[in-house]
Amino acid sequence: MLNYSYVKCKDLTQAYDLLEKEEQVYPLAGGTDLIVGMRGGKFAAKIIVDIKDLPELKILEENDQGIVIGAAVTLNEIATFKPIIDHALVLAEGAHTVGSYPIRNRATLAGNICNASPAADTAAPLMVLNAQVKITGSHGKRTVSINEFFVGPGQNVLKKGELVESVLIPRPYPNGTGVYLKASRTGSVDLATVGVAVQSWDNKVQVAVGAVAATPVRAISVEKAVNENGEKDLARAASLARDDISPITDLRGSREYRYHMAEVLIRRGIEKVMEV
Ligand SMILES: Cc1cc2nc3c(=O)[nH]c(=O)nc-3n(C[C@H](O)[C@H](O)[C@H](O)COP(=O)(O)OP(=O)(O)OC[C@H]3O[C@@H](n4cnc5c(N)ncnc54)[C@H](O)[C@@H]3O)c2cc1C
Repeated sequence: MLNYSYVKCKDLTQAYDLLEKEEQVYPLAGGTDLIVGMRGGKFAAKIIVDIKDLPELKILEENDQGIVIGAAVTLNEIATFKPIIDHALVLAEGAHTVGSYPIRNRATLAGNICNASPAADTAAPLMVLNAQVKITGSHGKRTVSINEFFVGPGQNVLKKGELVESVLIPRPYPNGTGVYLKASRTGSVDLATVGVAVQSWDNKVQVAVGAVAATPVRAISVEKAVNENGEKDLARAASLARDDISPITDLRGSREYRYHMAEVLIRRGIEKVMEV
């Protein structure tokens, strides 16, 4: 049986204090990674700090800066929020592919990125939208680009005592469209074998890929070929993703299959956003 203390935080200060002073302490948002990981032995939590009902983390709004997604906002709320559908469709699509409806009713965007799985379905969409992660703690606040947030499998840039407070989709929004394409073993409720996000900005594209490296990555070589070198053969451009990714073989797919699917999905994604 698991042996841990549960603390329902009254405010953020209480959360920082516990996270900073105690050991083996974890924030709890939706719990769809944390509780599963505790049961499976991945997280040896002595204290879990429930932050999901703090009002300042439940903000989902559009303001002068862009779209603000608080750390306790669920993926179902994100996938159906009109400003996200209108300006950041790639994120709505990525959020919508996570697990099942009941999972998305609990799971948060912050939990998805803090868990730092290379296959996290919201990571690649956030990367192509140039999202910013707002981090808070007892020593103050800081902002990190999503492109710098992931450090390795299960690792992110958060320091002891820090929390993700929100994620910002900044203005100006892309004036093109975006798409998230996910290859997985089943039609639903499975992590990505490969996940590809493509976003067009004017006539340029941004491409990010999940489940093909230690962290989600931008396909910089593909972007350069299309945006700077004017490569019109999109299959050739997509094949350059091999320089950006380094997939492994695991139970979801072989290394070679992942290379192949990354190329296929990147080509399809670019075709799709360019035809609109
Ligand atoms: C059946 C099932 C299917 C799933 N399918 C998918 C899928 O298809 N795609 C996918 O990407 N994921 C999938 N997941 C994983 C999971 O649902 C997502 O990663 C989810 O978004 C995690 O959010 P959460 O709020 O539940 O996080 P939690 O479990 O509460 O937290 C996850 C981790 O982040 C930390 N954390 C949470 N919030 C914060 C914060 N604000 N600041 C700092 N640290 C924080 C926690 O301490 C923990 O380490 C699945 C999970 C299950 C159980």
